[in-house]
This record gives sequence, structure tokens and C-alpha cells, in this order.
Amino acid sequence: MERMQQVVARARGAFNSGRCRSLEFRLQQLKALERMVREKEKEILAAIKADLHKCGHNAYSHEILGVLGELALTMDKLPSWAAPRPVKKNLLTMRDEAYICPEPLGVVLIIGAWNYPFVLVMQPLIGAIAAGNAVVVKPSEISENTAQLVADLLPQYLDRELYPVVTGGVPETTELLTQRFDHILYTGNSAVGKIVMAAAAKHLTPVTLELGGKSPCYIDKDCDLAVACRRITWGKYMNCGQTCIAPDYILCDPSIQSKVVENIKATLQEFYGEDVKSSPDYERIINKRHFRRVLGLLEGQKIAHGGEADEASCFIAPTILTDVSPESKVMEEEIFGPVLPILTVRSVEEAIEFINRREKPLALYVFSNNKKLIRRVISETSSGGVTANDVIMHSLVPDLPFGGVGNSGMGAYHGKHSFETFSHRRACLIKDLKMEVVNKLRYPPSSQKKVDW
Ligand code: NAD
Repeated sequence: MERMQQVVARARGAFNSGRCRSLEFRLQQLKALERMVREKEKEILAAIKADLHKCGHNAYSHEILGVLGELALTMDKLPSWAAPRPVKKNLLTMRDEAYICPEPLGVVLIIGAWNYPFVLVMQPLIGAIAAGNAVVVKPSEISENTAQLVADLLPQYLDRELYPVVTGGVPETTELLTQRFDHILYTGNSAVGKIVMAAAAKHLTPVTLELGGKSPCYIDKDCDLAVACRRITWGKYMNCGQTCIAPDYILCDPSIQSKVVENIKATLQEFYGEDVKSSPDYERIINKRHFRRVLGLLEGQKIAHGGEADEASCFIAPTILTDVSPESKVMEEEIFGPVLPILTVRSVEEAIEFINRREKPLALYVFSNNKKLIRRVISETSSGGVTANDVIMHSLVPDLPFGGVGNSGMGAYHGKHSFETFSHRRACLIKDLKMEVVNKLRYPPSSQKKVDW
């Protein structure tokens, strides 16, 4: 407990020194972070490979490119994001200055998850630094190699007091959460999200919860199935299905179910070859606990493709399940593995009803040539984000907020939204001491005469 108290107290002391307030300082720290990513690229890729069996090329495109892009955008735009924004004035405030001034919140806690272990702590860190905060970084213990590397590297490049890294698991995070923070951004599952929010409530600390859920994917009959299934296969099986916005399950008309299976099978062959296990592009399940959990979801299901597994290497082949019952176990929880259930629905109405009967998902996907149908699905459902005729891609548009709704989370980040998440929008009004006559109206004693005036 004492250690966590010290870490947070040091960060708060450094924040209170005021040195992270200036734009120059923030930009210099972001520049240093960029230098770290470039200079230590090999080490970062190696740690991700050790955690997730991810090849260098995939690790670079999943975890490094996004961080470099976010850094470049933030450094470019920070002066305009941080500038005071004048607001409209009225007769009474005509002579005053009225503006919104973004100011740092204080000490921010960022708790990361293991599935994209580098980007999930770095991307919010960029926003929190840009907004002028001190930041305590807590990477996931499950991706232990990346967690250790982040703990080793950040102090070599960034201000050590302002941006400490805490490693460890549940006991350490539990202790950390007893401390007072000014904002917490948590990425992970909804059950722990509730623990984080309850701990934050004790200090009235605002939270951003980046959670998960079952993201549906509706395929309309009026659709180019080969293209749709190639895009779905990419988003579903990347990172071995361990992506928070991966399409969790497919809804489609029974008449196209077997064509969907055939197209996905053909794409799997195209992507990973005859022997998926030896493909450098195919990752592994993070650990044995998750391996057994995902395999357990196959029990009693009709496996149309895949199903092979090897516990020693945590390998589960890309798997497709057909005619899945909405009541089955695989439809109860987020799959977070390379298993794709297909459920049949007779119409778009039925698909919408199906989606709306469940918790609001983090992402929603719809494939159709019919733009009207796409807009209808969007307007009659709710989700953190939507991509039509593709998957994952809305999360890569820097101007779009990334976050969930309802059970899939609260708040959002990425790009300017990160800066806003970690800033307080302060309402500022600066008057002078002249023209006192105008103020007479609001001073006692009240009288009808004043109002008539
Ligand atoms: P995880 O096990 O790495 O946990 C996340 C963090 O929570 C870790 O740092 C861990 O130390 C901490 N933690 C775990 N149990 C805790 C407890 N009892 N008390 C306090 N802290 C605790 O990650 P996970 O939860 O397995 O991550 C997978 C989930 O995260 C999925 O649901 C996925 O959809 C979601 N996710 C969401 C996003 C997003 O951006 N919305 C991104 C990635 C993952």
C-alpha cells in the first residue's frame, strides 16, 4: 500500500510543481516518446512476439503504426487543441472576455489490457500527456513481456516522476485503486470495469471505461459475399480473435449461410495457407486459461470449419460454427478467440431485434449494397461504433471517438477526443471594474422600476 501511495504522491508532487503545464514541455515529452518508439522498435516487437506469437510485420501494423500516427497528429494539433476558445457574448458580457480554457485534470491512471499490450497503454498516455497531466501507467500483467518493457523504457525517455509505471496484477491494481486519481482510463472486461468504477466513486474520480462485448455482424443477402467475407475474416481472426472490436458473431439469412462459410474458408486459405499453424501471420491464445475457456465454447456446436487445437502452444485454428442457437454458451459471453458463430435470421428486422435484445455492443457491422438498409440498422440500434461494409476500420479514423456505450463502456478517446477526455473544460469570464452602472439591475434592492427601465 505504501509503495502505491508513494508513487502517486510523487506524481502529484511533480504535477503540482507545474512543469507539465507548458505546451513546450508536453511537446518535448511527446517527442521523446516518439524517439523511444523509433529507437526501441525491435525490442517492442520482440516483447509483443513473446506475449502473443505475433510476427514483426503484424506487430508493427497493429501496435506501432497507430502509436506513431497518434503522436504525429497530437504534436501537430496540440497548440490548437490547447488554445482557449472564445464563446459568443451577449449584451451584458459584450465588453468581457469569455472563453473555454482546457486545463489538465491532475494525476491520471491508465490501466491497460493484454490483447494489444503496447498500443492500449501508449495511445491513452499520449492524450494524457498532451493534456498536461501526470500519468500512472499500469500495463496488463498477462502480457508480461510488454509490461516489463514499458516499465523499463518509459523512465529512460520521459520525466520519471510525472509518468511512473506500475507493474503487477490484481493485488497491485487493487492497491493502486485505493489512491486518489483525477481520472482513470481502464481497458478490459466489464466485470473489472465495475470494480474500477466503484473504487473511483470513493474519490468522485471520473472514469473512462473501454470495455468489450459481443459485436454483431449482419450480412444482407444483397451483398458481394466474397468481399464481405474477406474483410470479416481479416477482422475476426487477426490477433487470434483477441480484438475488442472483432466481429463476435454473424447474423444472416439461412439461404446464404453455406456461401458465407465457403467464402470465409477460401479467405482463410488465402491468408494463412494450407497449414495455419505454421503461418507467421496467425497468432496464439494468450494463455492456457483463455485457451480452455475458448475451447469450452465449442462444446455441443456444429463445427463447419476448424476446431483443431494444441494446448502446449495455445493454438486454436480459425473456427466457424453454423446454425448456432442464441441460447448456447458461445452466445452468452464475448468470445475473444478465433471462433465465429453464424446465426440465421429471416430479415433485417429480426437482426435488429436480435441485436437490441442484448447488451449494447462496442462495435456493430453491417454488410449490404443497400445504403438505406445500412442507415436503418444504424438508426434502429446502438453501439460504441459502427463500420458498414468493413470491420474494425472506424477505430482507425483519428477524428472518430473510440469508446463503448452501456455495457461496452463509457467515454471515448483517440486523437482530439483523448485530449478532451483528459482535460477539464474550464469556463472563464474576465471582466473589468468599469461600467458599474450596468450592474445596478442585478443588485438589491429590487424594484419594478429597474425592470421597466
Ligand atoms: P486483463 O486481464 O489484462 O485486465 C485488464 C487490467 O485490469 C489489467 O491491467 C489487470 O491488472 C486489471 N485487473 C484485472 N482484474 C482486476 C481486479 N479484480 N481488480 C483490479 N484490476 C484488475 O484484460 P481482460 O479484461 O482480459 O481484457 C479483455 C477484455 O477487454 C475484453 O472484454 C475486451 O473486449 C476488452 N478490451 C476492450 C478494449 C477497448 O478499447 N474497448 C480494448 C481491448 C480489450
